[in-house]
Parts: sequence; C-alpha cells; structure tokens
Amino acid sequence: MPNSYDVVIIGAGTGGYVAAIRCAQLGKKVAVVEKQKALGGTCLIWGCIPTKALLEHAHALKVIRDAKEWGVTLPPATPAIDMNQVQSRKDRIVTGLTKGVEFLFKKNKIDWIKGTARLAGKGKVDIVEGEKQTLEAKEIVIATGSSARSVPGIEIDHTRIITSDEAIGLKEVPKTLAILGSGAVGVEFASIYRRFGSEVTIIELLPRLVPIEDEAISAELEKSFKKQGIKSLTGTKVTKAAAGDNGVDIEAQTPDGKTQKLTADLLLVATGRGPVTTGLGAEQAGITMEKGYIKVDDLYRTSVPNVSAIGDVITLGSGVHPQLAHVSSAEGIVVAERIAGQDVAPINYDHVPSCTYCDPEIGSVGLTEGEAREKGYDVRVGSFPFGVLGRAKMAGEGEGFVKIVADKKYDEILGVHMIGPRSTELVAEAVLALRLECTVEELIRTIHAHPTFSEAVGEAAHATHGAAIHL
Ligand SMILES: Cc1cc2nc3c(=O)[nH]c(=O)nc-3n(C[C@H](O)[C@H](O)[C@H](O)COP(=O)(O)OP(=O)(O)OC[C@H]3O[C@@H](n4cnc5c(N)ncnc54)[C@H](O)[C@@H]3O)c2cc1C
Repeated sequence: MPNSYDVVIIGAGTGGYVAAIRCAQLGKKVAVVEKQKALGGTCLIWGCIPTKALLEHAHALKVIRDAKEWGVTLPPATPAIDMNQVQSRKDRIVTGLTKGVEFLFKKNKIDWIKGTARLAGKGKVDIVEGEKQTLEAKEIVIATGSSARSVPGIEIDHTRIITSDEAIGLKEVPKTLAILGSGAVGVEFASIYRRFGSEVTIIELLPRLVPIEDEAISAELEKSFKKQGIKSLTGTKVTKAAAGDNGVDIEAQTPDGKTQKLTADLLLVATGRGPVTTGLGAEQAGITMEKGYIKVDDLYRTSVPNVSAIGDVITLGSGVHPQLAHVSSAEGIVVAERIAGQDVAPINYDHVPSCTYCDPEIGSVGLTEGEAREKGYDVRVGSFPFGVLGRAKMAGEGEGFVKIVADKKYDEILGVHMIGPRSTELVAEAVLALRLECTVEELIRTIHAHPTFSEAVGEAAHATHGAAIHL
C-alpha cells in the first residue's frame, strides 16, 4: 500500500522531524504530515532561528556603534539599521535551514505529506486539508507543538497587540515597544529592539525578570537592562490594553496597588505558549488530556496504544515540561528508538540546559540556589565575574558572572548559572558536569584553556571552594 507506513508523525517541528529521521535511520518507513509550506516548525520558522538571527544583527549594530573603541574609522554618518536588509538576511537563513530539513527527508526517504492531519481511529490518520487521503500506520507520533497565547482580558489583534510571530517580521523599528512577560521570548525581543533603537518597557507580573532563573541572574539582567535604557516594571500586572490607530493604551497595577498608564506603538504579548490540538481529534481518539496538553508517560506513550506524543504539545503530569527545541528533539530520538525496539531510558529533565539569548546572554542548568536550599541541601556557592577575565576584556564584554551551586556534603554540583558573554555556549560544560554527577573538585581539576571565556567556569569552581585564583 503506498500510503501505509511503519510510523506516521504529525508535525515537522524540531520534535517531529528529528523523530522522523531517527525512525528512518532505524529502518522504519516514515511519513510526516506538515501543514505549513516549509518544514522545521516553530523553531525554524518563527522561533529560535529568526530571533537569534535578529539578535546577531543587533550585536553587529552594537559593535559598529562602538567602532571608535575598536579603532575602526567609519564615515561621519551615524550607524543605523536597515530593516529590509535585516529581514531579507533573516529570511534567507530560515529558508536555508527549512530546505535543509527537506533535503534530510529526501536523503532518509521520508515522505512529507502536505496537509492537516486528524486521528481517524486505530492506526489511521486522515489528511483533511491539503493532500487529502487516509494514511495507515503501525505507530503514530503526535508532535503538533504550541502557539502563542495571551492572558485574559488582552486581545491580540496581530497589528498593534502582537505576538512573537509578528515581532520577528517587523518592517519598521517601533519608536516605543511594551513587552508583556519577561521570560526568554520577552527579554530577547527587548534586547533586539532596544539595540535597533526602540524605547522598550518590559512588564512582568512576578517580582523579578527571567523569574525561573537564579535570583542573582535576574538581578544582574535588570542592572544591565537599566544601563541599556530598557525599563523593567516588575511585580506589575497589566489590567487593560486597548489598541487604537496610533498605538496601544496600557493600564497596569503596580506592586503598591496603584494604577499606572502607559502608551506604546506596539505591545508584544510574550506570556507563554499553549498546545496545538484543535482539529486533531485527540480527545475523540480516547487520548487523555490535561489542561489541553496530551498526557504521556516517561517514554512518551499516550493513553492509547501505539500513539505517542512529544514536544511542546505534551505534559508529563508532574513538574513543568520545558517547551524547548532541544527538549523536543531529545524526546523525538527517545520515541523513535523505543518504537524501533531499542532499550531506552527516560530523559532526566533536571539536566536540560536553559539558554536565553538576550544581551547579556544567560545559560543555566540544574537547581538554583533557592531551589537547592528548599530541597534541604547544605548549599555552598561560588561565583566568578567575567569582568576580570583577559578574554572578556579583549572582547569588551565584561558583564556578568558564572555561579555554581553545590552540595557541601558530597561536593556534588547541583546547578550552574551564568550571565554574560557566550553563556549559551559555556553552559554545555555544565550540562555534562551535571550529567556525569561531577564534584566541584573534578571541575577544578579540569584544565580550562587560556585565554578563553570558559576560564570563568573553572574559576567559579575554585571560588566554590573559597580559592578563586584571579579574585
Ligand atoms: C520566539 C520564540 C523563540 C524561541 N527560541 C528558542 C530557543 O532559542 N531555543 C529553544 O530551545 N527553543 C526556543 N523556542 C521554543 C521552540 O521553538 C519550541 O520548543 C519547539 O519548536 C517545539 O517543537 P515541536 O516539534 O514540539 O513543535 P513545533 O515546532 O511547534 O512544530 C509543530 C508543527 O506541527 C504542525 N502541525 C500542528 N498541527 C498539525 C496538524 N494537525 N497537521 C499537520 N501539521 C500540524 C505545525 O504546523 C508545526 O510545524 C522559541 C519559541 C519561540 C516562539
């Protein structure tokens, strides 16, 4: 049968396409149903890739603005950003990567069925829009991802009150930009548009920016944002937002209960994402759901035999499931290997790195100091500032620090938190350290090359034992 497969995967995001490639590598006949015109899902089309491309433009502008410091002479004109060029370069990067996934599908003989999928009973998937047909599958993997959501009382009109989907494609730099929410998406756009020249205000309900990070990281980011001219209104609840022809009128309640009014050209709602299951027929198929998410066990089995789910659309029942591209891909590999009959172990979500590409960057893994204390560890911490590192001085990027949270009793590293240059790269060493249950002593004995940013990690380990060399 031409439309009969070992595995049918619904959604070609970083979860679905990676699962498809791994299934194909393991000898399975695979089809992926994707309704967008390109492969790659949120990460490639609207998320990780376009935002980080824009951040690289913002960084280029920063370096050019500091030309004098670098001894580079420029014509007398003030450096400015050309949004047409920014957008076309970003779009070229996105297209290159989505075409790259298409190439990988061809290489691995994976069929891309263009259309919208709906579960149609045991081992069947209907394509209800696009290339209409019914597919037969021994195994089905749902990887339909997430989409931006708002908060009650704030209606997204996609013109003045926007989500990240619109924020990546702006043709003009807004004069004023208000951002609701200071998670990764909120602070990354704050960095992008502040560098491009917007007046940016971030409004966060919780008492600090990037509230899931270690408190010291939040404080450092707020300090840096203040220096850059980004306003942070923390502990502040937006109660009303009305879009008009000239902008958005926003009302918010400050921590002391007062009402604050502000106006902005655009309001970016960055308050999180919800699961995409509309029209999928998951409930009708008997799949157990929880708050709209598909409930799975630790090897991604749903309540219906031979139907699995991975990525942003799932909940594991307990704890927060991180909505991250690398998490969805890791789950895609586990699910593929399980389907192929391999012996697989559940993912340890305590070892998932969290990277935020704002300026300065944040990289973290494991327990924050507060969490470690709450769990009853006898905690010891050590930090080392990038400011005293030779490599950071050369790069002119001395903000931030690396902080290690460790258990005094066994010297085990419980968490590593960093803010500053290359933190999203440096965190990889910390992830491996946690995975291998490293002690602080082992990190101290690990030789870090000189002069590198990574010396901050080694020095933070020394600092945790009260013996930083360069402090
Ligand atoms: C602005 C932004 C920045 C981000 N930055 C980062 C980052 O730097 N690092 C990081 O790790 N994560 C980042 N993320 C999160 C990351 O993009 C997601 O966690 C990841 O894309 C989830 O992958 P997924 O495969 O679960 O779902 P998705 O990527 O959402 O893919 C789901 C796919 O399923 C398709 N689909 C849905 N329903 C159907 C159906 N019924 N039939 C056919 N197709 C269907 C959709 O069209 C979509 O292509 C960012 C997200 C955003 C919004």
